[in-house]
Amino acid sequence: MSGRLPVIGMTCFNDSWVFDCGTWPIKAVEAEYVRAVADAGGLPVMLAGRPTQAMALLERIDGLLMTGGVDVNPVHYGEARDPRTGPPDVERDAYEIALVRGAIAAGIPVLGICRGIQLINVALGGTLHQHVEHAVKDKPTIPVHDVEVLEASRLFGVVGRHRLQVNSLHHQCVKEVAPSLRTSASAPDGVVEAVEGLDSPVLAVQWHPEMQQVGTSAPELFTWLVEESSNYLQHRWPPAAPA
Ligand code: MN
Repeated sequence: MSGRLPVIGMTCFNDSWVFDCGTWPIKAVEAEYVRAVADAGGLPVMLAGRPTQAMALLERIDGLLMTGGVDVNPVHYGEARDPRTGPPDVERDAYEIALVRGAIAAGIPVLGICRGIQLINVALGGTLHQHVEHAVKDKPTIPVHDVEVLEASRLFGVVGRHRLQVNSLHHQCVKEVAPSLRTSASAPDGVVEAVEGLDSPVLAVQWHPEMQQVGTSAPELFTWLVEESSNYLQHRWPPAAPA
């Protein structure tokens, strides 16, 4: 063991910041992700480069956290945009698709959350439902529906329970699961709530564990990412540069 903390790259959103000398574009990540990764023992860093720099970044991180955010552009799964689908973030989509494909090719562990599960599924050839009436958006930190976890799944090995109670802040969800993924949990109404890699260290959930209260699945999912990333750090090739 080198004792180095695994570096967990977190995707970020594009927005604008209004302050006293104007409105400026920003790239940011919600603090709850930073806290959850650090609490689990990872070293959180925000991935804010250009799409063409995705591969260079993957040489410097040991784990990838695909965070929540705006709707994925349906052009990436061959559908016209539903009027209820939000405007696309073209640069973010391109950057994140490159990150996901590159991370999986390199064996880097990936945890996806909300937009993250959707982006991962689309990047690997799956599709999305563009609008479902399912969420309870005024209770962001409170469990509002169950999910049933498949017993043979990687997710079951991580959370150790058949049933979880989760928050639900999404209006899109996985439709056709990508060929290299499988469903690992679903809601009582049939919504796919988690997928995982068949042959790759990928876990992705539709809920927001980082916003949930203690006693839910939150710590286990981030602990899984950090442990898998520590393992990747020990065995990666080329080796990480000396500290
Ligand atoms: Mn849900």
